[in-house]
Amino acid sequence: MALLRSLGTLGIFAACLAPVRGHAANAELATSDTLLRVQATDGHLAVTSLRLRGTGRDWVPRDSAVAIVLPASARADDREYPLSWKHAGMLHDGKERAVFTFRCQEPALELRSVWQAARGSGPVEHTLAVTNRSTQTLLLPLSTSLAFGARAAAGHSLTHWWVEKGAGYPTGHGTHHDPVSPGYRCSLLSLPYSRDGDDRDAIPWTAGQADTAREGWYAGIEFSGRVRLTLNGLPAAAGTGTGVAAELGLDGANQEPERTRLLPGATWQSPTVFVGCYAGDVDDGANRLHRWVERALRPPVSDPRYPLLTLNSWGSGMAVDEPLARRMMDDAVSLGLEMFHVDAGWFRSPGDWRANPAKFPHGLAATADQAHAKGLKFGLWVGWTQGGIEPDAPDRQAILNVFAPDRRDWFPHDCPPNWTPSDFTGAALCLADPAAGDWCLSLLDRLVREFHLDLLEHDQPMIVDSCVRTGHPHTASSADVAYHAARGYYRVYDALRRLHPTLLFEDCVNGGHTVDYGIVRRVHYISITDTYSPLANRRAFYDTSHALPPSMCECYVQNEPVRTPAEFRTMLRSGMMGWFTLMCDPTQWTAEQHIIARRQVSLYKTRLRPLIRSGNLYHLTERPDGERWDAVQYADGAGRPAVLMAFRGTTPEPRHLFHLRGLRPEARYQVTFEDGDVPTVTRSGKDLMEQGLAVDLPEPGSSQLVFVTAVAR
Ligand SMILES: [Zn+2]
Repeated sequence: MALLRSLGTLGIFAACLAPVRGHAANAELATSDTLLRVQATDGHLAVTSLRLRGTGRDWVPRDSAVAIVLPASARADDREYPLSWKHAGMLHDGKERAVFTFRCQEPALELRSVWQAARGSGPVEHTLAVTNRSTQTLLLPLSTSLAFGARAAAGHSLTHWWVEKGAGYPTGHGTHHDPVSPGYRCSLLSLPYSRDGDDRDAIPWTAGQADTAREGWYAGIEFSGRVRLTLNGLPAAAGTGTGVAAELGLDGANQEPERTRLLPGATWQSPTVFVGCYAGDVDDGANRLHRWVERALRPPVSDPRYPLLTLNSWGSGMAVDEPLARRMMDDAVSLGLEMFHVDAGWFRSPGDWRANPAKFPHGLAATADQAHAKGLKFGLWVGWTQGGIEPDAPDRQAILNVFAPDRRDWFPHDCPPNWTPSDFTGAALCLADPAAGDWCLSLLDRLVREFHLDLLEHDQPMIVDSCVRTGHPHTASSADVAYHAARGYYRVYDALRRLHPTLLFEDCVNGGHTVDYGIVRRVHYISITDTYSPLANRRAFYDTSHALPPSMCECYVQNEPVRTPAEFRTMLRSGMMGWFTLMCDPTQWTAEQHIIARRQVSLYKTRLRPLIRSGNLYHLTERPDGERWDAVQYADGAGRPAVLMAFRGTTPEPRHLFHLRGLRPEARYQVTFEDGDVPTVTRSGKDLMEQGLAVDLPEPGSSQLVFVTAVAR
C-alpha cells in the first residue's frame, strides 16, 4: 500500500494493473462515516452501495443502481468512432483509493475512474481521466463525473436541498427544500459567473434528506466552470421509499455539440465530485461536510486568528488615497480590527496595475508598511484578469493592453477600436491561453512582493465561457471554454500559492458570483453577496452556510441608516456570523457607536470566532425575511460556549422561543444575555433543546447574543 501511494501518478498506477476480464471488479471505499461500493465490467461503471457506516441501511437498493455513462464516441478527421470500453483492471489501495481502468482499441484510448476516500470523516471523491493513446487529435464528448441512485428507506420520503448563489443580491428564495416524487425533475446549473435575477444558478452542492428517517446524503462539484447537477425521481418500487437518480459533472456532458479536443498523448480530466452520508438533519450533514472542506479542500491557514476582522476601503469607493488609508488604519486599530484592505481605486486604470501616484505618492508599499507597523495585515484588490487601453510601454509586466498585437489573442474576442474600460472593469482574458496565464502569474507575484501583501482579493469575471479564438486549447463549446479557462485560473493560483505559501486569498467576483468547491480549493474566504444590508447579509449567510464552512462566508458590512443603538448592533452582528469585513468609514460614527462597535469586535474575537472557526452551525429558523424572527446557533460539544444569534424583524411579536441544538442533554448550562438587563439562568441541555429558550426583544429590528456555557455540577 505504501509503495502504491508513493508512486503517486495515475500513469504509474496504470502500469501495475492486474487484468480482470469477463467478470465484474468491485471496490469498497470508506471514510470514517461514508461507505461506497463501485462495480466495473466491460462498458459499465456504477455505484452499487452507498451508506453511513454502522447503520447498515443502503441508499442504493438492488434495482436502483445508476450507471455512470462513459464516452460513447470520438471524432477524428470528420469520422465518428463508436467507443467500446473494455474493463482492463483495477487497483485497490485499502479502502482509501481505487482506480478502475478501461481501454478502447479503435481509436486507442484509456479511461481511468479514480475513487478517493477522505481520511477521517467526510465524503468519497471521484474523477474520470481519459488519455488519448492514438496518434490522432480526437474530439470527445464531455464526460459526466458521477451518477448514482439513492432511495429513502421504505415508508420514508426524500427532500432535495439546494441553495442559490448570493451574487448581486440574495433572491427572495435562496434555500430550496423540495419534496421528491417519481416525477421530480431538477436540473441545477452552476456558472463561472452567476446570473442575477430569478433564474439564479446554484452553488454546486446538494443534499437528499429523509426527514422522518433522520438520515441523508450530500454531494458537490469541485469545479468553477459550467457544471450541472441533475436529480430525477426514480419510479416507485415496492419495499423502498422515494428515490432519485443524481448526476453531477460538466454542463452538457455526453450531449452534442459539447466536445473537447484531446491531442495525442494528452489526458482530459473530469471535474472531481464528492458524495457523503450522514445521520440527522441537513445541518448535521452540512457540519460534517464543513469539517472536511476545512481539512481537505481549503488552502492551509497560516494565521491562527483566522477568520480575520477586516476593514475594507470600498465604503469610500474609488476615493481611497494615502490620507484616507492612514485614517482608516487608525480606526481599524482603535476598533480592534486585524487587517486593512485597500479595495479598487489604488491603481491607474483597469489593466494598468501600477499604483496611482496622485493617490499614493509614496507608493503602495509605504501604506502596507504603515499597516504592518500598526500591527495590521495588509490586503489588496486586484482585478487581474482585466485588460485596458493604457499604452503598454514602458512596463509590460504591469500593463495589459487589449490592443497590443502580441496579446490581443489572449482575449476571447477583439475589442472594437473605440472600446474603453470603466473605472474598475476592463475586458476579461481567456485564461485557457497559457501565455495569458503566465503573464497573470508574473504580475501577481510582482504585486505580492512589491506591495508587501498579506492578502490578495480577486474581483471581476475570472473564467470566461465564450471565446472565439481557435488557437486556444478549447473548442467552441461554452462548457469546454469554461473548462479550460477554469483550469487556467487554477494554474495561476496554485503556482502563486506555491510561491507565497502564507498569502491569504479572497474570492470577490463582484460579490458572490463565483461560489463552488473548485474555488474553495484556492481561496480562504468568499464574498457571498454584493448587497450589504443587514437582511441581505443574513439571507446570503443563511443560504451559503449550508454549502460552505461559516468561516469562509464573508459578509461586507456597510453603513446603514440606523435610528437606535440596537439597530446599529444589528447592522454589525448581521455580518458577524462568518468572516466579518467592515466596509465603511468609521470616522463618521458617533462616540457611542464606536463604543458599541469595539464591544461587538471584542465579543467576536473571544466568543464568536472560536465557534465560527470550527464549531457546528444550526439554522434554527426559516430563512430571514426581515419580518419574522430569525436565528442561527453555534455549538461544538467540545466545552466551548454555544451561542445563539437572534434577530427580530418588523413583527409585533416581542418574544420568541428557540429550541437550541448540539448541547449535551444531561449537562447544566449557564445562559447569559449580552444586551439588556436579563438575569442569568442555569438550565439543563435537555431543557434548552426540548422546552426551548425565550428571547425578549422589545424593539423591532434589534438583536440579541445569548451565550450558553456548560457549568460544573
Ligand atoms: Zn479562449
